[in-house]
Amino acid sequence: MRSIAGSGSASKVRQLEVRALDGKNPVFVQSSDRREEVPPVGQCRLCLNERTLCLSHIVPKWAFHWMKKEGGVLGTSENGRITFREQDGSKHYMLCSDCEHHLGEAEDYLAHLARGRRVDLSKVRVSIRPGPTLHNVNFELVMRGLLGILFKLNFATAVPYDRISFDRRFVDRLRQRIQNDDYPTHSLFVVATKWISVYEPEINPKSMVVAEPLQRRRFDLLMGGWSWTLLMSSSTRVLNEDAGGLVLRRDEPWQVLVGETLRHRRFEIVEDVLSRAFEDRLDGAGVGGIWDTIDPDSDCPCGLGRAAYRACCAEGWTTPAWRAAQDN
Ligand SMILES: [Zn+2]
Ligand SMILES: [Zn+2]
Repeated sequence: MRSIAGSGSASKVRQLEVRALDGKNPVFVQSSDRREEVPPVGQCRLCLNERTLCLSHIVPKWAFHWMKKEGGVLGTSENGRITFREQDGSKHYMLCSDCEHHLGEAEDYLAHLARGRRVDLSKVRVSIRPGPTLHNVNFELVMRGLLGILFKLNFATAVPYDRISFDRRFVDRLRQRIQNDDYPTHSLFVVATKWISVYEPEINPKSMVVAEPLQRRRFDLLMGGWSWTLLMSSSTRVLNEDAGGLVLRRDEPWQVLVGETLRHRRFEIVEDVLSRAFEDRLDGAGVGGIWDTIDPDSDCPCGLGRAAYRACCAEGWTTPAWRAAQDN
């Protein structure tokens, strides 16, 4: 019996070990499953059928594109001591091809949103208007994509995800929701921020991936230069009243925040070197003011690369002075 059901160890599937550093000492840590010439048969984690399994990326492969360009994925374990490099994130044999496709469709959709240029958005029939607000966002696909990644994290045995596990009831509920595209709007909320690096252009906001379920009620995913925050609660108290358009709702415009990467808590190193005066300048400039300083023909500060600001985030995400002047 070649089943890899259960905790995932009773199988011929072997995990790769990658060189890592524990503090300053070299160690090896468990990473992705080794690719097998003959894919293993086992229980699909999602549909629970006994099927041939695909080597599934935990966080979609596209999210690692920009990181790869910068020399490989830098992973850090939960305790922050172990660091290692990988090419495109962890993968495990866990889903049948149907379920892989079901999640893949949603993850592709998230990729289009994250790239964010008009051309990318129009491919998924989303339009962007001042605010910035996205119109015609597919609620089910966003939910399926994010819940799918959360679901896969539960089963991942690679560092740094090896310590993430949810209770069985929660996993069963996730499974049901993902399979049926059933996402109750009174208990599931998604808020997103798109990061742009105006003041520290060498920091590419898209080159960082962090998947972190903070508690059972909150999942923060930094991926593709966006923070996707998923709040799961039966109480709407988690949101204050101002959050109105910031929460993704079916058939309603969705306001995505645009933030300067210096503001992101994940970029603490940079924040450390920030002087108080610089902070004040940020505050003084306000979000609107920042964009005025960007040369429209320079590389866009979102880190997409090969795209001039004029043709990228200035197209909807920000409204720089030169654009406003043209419009008037
Ligand atoms: Zn399946
Ligand atoms: Zn851009």
